[in-house]
Amino acid sequence: MHTHTSLPVSSNTQYYLDLEDRYGAHNYHPLPVVLQKGSGAYLWDVDNKRYFDFLSGYSAVNQGHCHPRIIDALVSQASQLTLTSRAFHSNKLGEYEEYITKFFGYDKVLPMNTGVEAVETAIKLCRKWAYEKKGLPENQAKIIVCSSNFHGRTVGVISFSTDPSATRHFGPFVPGYEVVPFNNLPALEKAMQDPYTAGFLFEPIQGEAGVVVPDEGYYAGARELCNNYNVLMIADEIQTGLCRTGKMLACDHESVRPDMVILGKALSGGAIPISAVLADDDVMLCIKPGEHGSTYGGNPLACSVAMAALAVLKDEQLDSNAEELGKYFREALSKLNSPHISFIRGRGLLNAIVIKHEHPEAAWELCLELMRNGLLAKPTHGDKIRFAPPLVMTKEQIDECIAIIDRSLPVLDNLTA
Ligand code: PLP
Repeated sequence: MHTHTSLPVSSNTQYYLDLEDRYGAHNYHPLPVVLQKGSGAYLWDVDNKRYFDFLSGYSAVNQGHCHPRIIDALVSQASQLTLTSRAFHSNKLGEYEEYITKFFGYDKVLPMNTGVEAVETAIKLCRKWAYEKKGLPENQAKIIVCSSNFHGRTVGVISFSTDPSATRHFGPFVPGYEVVPFNNLPALEKAMQDPYTAGFLFEPIQGEAGVVVPDEGYYAGARELCNNYNVLMIADEIQTGLCRTGKMLACDHESVRPDMVILGKALSGGAIPISAVLADDDVMLCIKPGEHGSTYGGNPLACSVAMAALAVLKDEQLDSNAEELGKYFREALSKLNSPHISFIRGRGLLNAIVIKHEHPEAAWELCLELMRNGLLAKPTHGDKIRFAPPLVMTKEQIDECIAIIDRSLPVLDNLTA
């Protein structure tokens, strides 16, 4: 429970807060802001107050809100054909499959909708490969994951979560996982020595855990171990991919090519849920007709939107913008020299600060003050605040945001535990 100070909100805002409180499940704890419009790096609330978006829908809106090219693709495809199911072909699916596989350099793609579905898909592919190619005995395949991981919310995926709030009273869980510490190659190697190891599933940077960046060499080291032990390297790039960290994929920072890449979020630029798993034939063709699927997976609307979303990333060079602005932003933040910030970390425009304060809700209080001052960010895991604006942001806008953060930090001066 948050015991934050009550915030005066407009009656207009209160109306919408009350509706959600009354009729919606209470599975989130949002800031008390009700948004009605977005464009680029900006959001507007129901009273037409403008904010900088510093969350980007958990990195789904890398291309900025309502990017005209993505919305054009959405609208024009929506008036043609939206869904065929995979019982029939569409004239968009093959085109999209060619586009995305050439874009990332993999033989094949398996299209899904939400991120967690793509994670489940990668797990199923990995297990099938382990039995059919690696020759493991049935039901013995093990997948190695990292502590403090976040890969989504299905029962299958929370089965290997180490976060009690994600797992408590949701059991029983699915077996077949071993948890190793993140950023620890000796522990990873030890776990891989189990001959029943099929895969290593990891986030290149742990976003939900508070933007935890591993040491240089971690991806390359993991790649080498996966090669040595004939284990599939499965990168969950749902949050780190698609230019967020300053490269198209975070694994590109070490020129590492995983055996499977999981994408979601910004694959649609925030328009509709689109996810995908990329792999080569040796893995992808292990799944045969009728063995896996989704009614909406690969629908023509998603295919058109995803092609536009990927084209925007490339044409607007959002990787280099994220890289440059990210460096600039972290430097500027450290120059603020705030006694309340104990850590600034991140890569590209996936960043976080760790708040140092005796008050347990200090990060939440700072986010409320940022909101008052026109910037929307959300705490993760208590004392951390993720700063992940849309990648279309300009240097002038980032300067304004730094000024807002500077102006907001003093709210913590007078906060007592
Ligand atoms: N994997 C990672 C690394 C994520 O950050 C997320 C979402 O935050 C997911 C998987 C789950 O994606 P979705 O919420 O679309 O199911």
